[in-house]
Amino acid sequence: MSEALYLKDCSIMEFDAKVIAVEGNKVELDRTAFYPRSGGVANDTGYLLADDKKYDIIDVYKQDGHIYHVLAELGLKQGDLVHGVINWERRKILVRMHTAAHLLSAIFYNKIGAKITGNQIDVDKSRIDFSLESFDRSLIEAMVEEANKMIEKGAEVKIYFMRKDEALKIPGLVKLAEAQPPDLDVLRIVEISGIDVQADGGCHVSNIKEIGRIVLLKLENKGKTNRRIYYRVE
Ligand SMILES: [Zn+2]
Repeated sequence: MSEALYLKDCSIMEFDAKVIAVEGNKVELDRTAFYPRSGGVANDTGYLLADDKKYDIIDVYKQDGHIYHVLAELGLKQGDLVHGVINWERRKILVRMHTAAHLLSAIFYNKIGAKITGNQIDVDKSRIDFSLESFDRSLIEAMVEEANKMIEKGAEVKIYFMRKDEALKIPGLVKLAEAQPPDLDVLRIVEISGIDVQADGGCHVSNIKEIGRIVLLKLENKGKTNRRIYYRVE
């Protein structure tokens, strides 16, 4: 099992690790700062260096608690020491998109009681699905405007760990309509100061000012429990 460094520190761009398992072009490391695609958020990419040879990482995913790095080339073996380097341009966009999703979901929930039913956070565009009675473009635009005003003002984003029984006393902690808190004694909490508190395993900006501006791209109506909005950040 690998130690997930990104859970404790979202600012790690490079790290040293040891290969603990290899299966074809998939490797598992004893520790990793690469974010695996999970929770509707796209994975990091980057590369591993071993003896001055570079192995590009084309995918990172999680399975049964293990984190697998899919490499463009074969060659690494168990016991190899590697230096991991994360594609920081890509990570920066993903964290801005991800924190924007938290901000938007908080506003939709607090203003009109809309719950998230799904999300897909990616580099070019991101998508959030809401459960919403009326799907009115001007209402959605007003919510996005509200989010952009909050971004201009700024708010700190804090990540910390909390005992589950304590965390569950926080109202609205789990906003994903179908989501149950993970079966753990300690939850990882992502808090946008004064705006939102979520149990979450992802990487985020440290102040919402870093999001920039949220641009609404498209609305799609897939039924009452699936009102989709597409956005990007600029
Ligand atoms: Zn999240």
